[in-house]
Amino acid sequence: MLQWGGWLGALLLGQLAGHHLARASGPEFQHHRYEDMVRALFAVQSECPYISRIYSIGRSVQGRHLYVLEFSDNPGIHEALEPEFKYVGNMHGNEVLGRELLIQFSQFLCQEYTAGNERITRLVHDTRIHILPSMNPDGYEVAANQGPEFNGYLVGRGNSREQDLNRNFPDLNALMYYYEKSSGRNHHLPLPDNWEQQVEPETLAVIKWMQNYNFILSANLHGGAVVANYPFDKARDPRIRGRTTYAATADDKIFKKLARTYSYAHSWMHKGWNCGDFFEEGITNGASWYSLSKGMQDFNYLYTNCYEITLELSCDKFPPASALQREWLGNREALVSYLEQVHHGIKGMVYDENNNPIANAEISVGGVNHDVTSGVDGDYFRLLLPGTYSVTTSAPGYLPSTRSVTVGPAEAIQLHFYLKPAPKQNQNIKNQNLHGKRNHASKLPVNLGPR
Ligand code: ZN
Repeated sequence: MLQWGGWLGALLLGQLAGHHLARASGPEFQHHRYEDMVRALFAVQSECPYISRIYSIGRSVQGRHLYVLEFSDNPGIHEALEPEFKYVGNMHGNEVLGRELLIQFSQFLCQEYTAGNERITRLVHDTRIHILPSMNPDGYEVAANQGPEFNGYLVGRGNSREQDLNRNFPDLNALMYYYEKSSGRNHHLPLPDNWEQQVEPETLAVIKWMQNYNFILSANLHGGAVVANYPFDKARDPRIRGRTTYAATADDKIFKKLARTYSYAHSWMHKGWNCGDFFEEGITNGASWYSLSKGMQDFNYLYTNCYEITLELSCDKFPPASALQREWLGNREALVSYLEQVHHGIKGMVYDENNNPIANAEISVGGVNHDVTSGVDGDYFRLLLPGTYSVTTSAPGYLPSTRSVTVGPAEAIQLHFYLKPAPKQNQNIKNQNLHGKRNHASKLPVNLGPR
């Protein structure tokens, strides 16, 4: 029996991967222009048609499709209790390593599944994996036209309208920090009116994607440093200039563990000294590094059930093709181990007394001030560290139900809830003007670090 993330799995993975790498040489490690990337993704799909699917979440400003490659034992279908995971690359068009790693990772999943690698087979069977190698294909082409040697720090970073997509999400932090003062809601915050007109097409596509899939865990791959960066990115008081402050989420310990999972499984990230910077254990809180507004990872946490971290993977934003194989070998185990984290904590179904699933039920964990919700099939997923927790599930029209659960280090514990109808009354009052204070959203100078 294989353990998630266990040494035996790593050993098997190493052996099989070594075997595969012995076959493949040279031409596999190249940069992919848009057409080449699309060809590569479709090639993987046709090589592994029963476990993969390609879909587009929309188009870039210049009309390039934002293609996602999905891996699952039932592609295209959400199966209850099977968590959804995503990797997003190349959000900054000139930060290209993530894009190449995700193409490589897609080929790897297909090949290892075909070869019968138990660890990969199990991942594909138990997880729905979505891979978006390039969120900013237009910016990439601008950067690639300059080539690796001549690429500047900023050329091709934004989309074709030169908008930085990691400064382009609705600012839910401002709303949450405001609510915090009155111990108000801090999850599934509402979007501002007309948000669709306020974001770029690539951002719009990604937000709709988040609305259509109940993602649980995610990573956003960048370059320009080597560190695993976790929320919040935005400082609580961004007016404090020249000084950085740690901005913890209610899930700070979990985020640290997620970041450490990547950094320690990565060949050198955890060592800390990279690119002239030092990050203890190769991880950092976003705001304690430098504060940024309207980033994607904070948005994931405040708007959805998804926990996302931002991975900075290379000092050189556009490394030469000759560096790609080493980078792949340095990141391969980390990409697998991080994905496996989606299977920790607790998960279960929320039913009514007739065994009908209840969507959008709120699952709260005692001592952690951040709730998650059940998906359309009534299933929920809650990442947790080992320990004993009191878990309460509630939904409008039902009596809340509380259960105690002990989480171990292995796979997610299943904990189902059966809610009884509440005596009539108690309608949820909707706050009509949640965004009354949004005008305070700060106008910081855009910080142009790697994130
Ligand atoms: Zn970046």
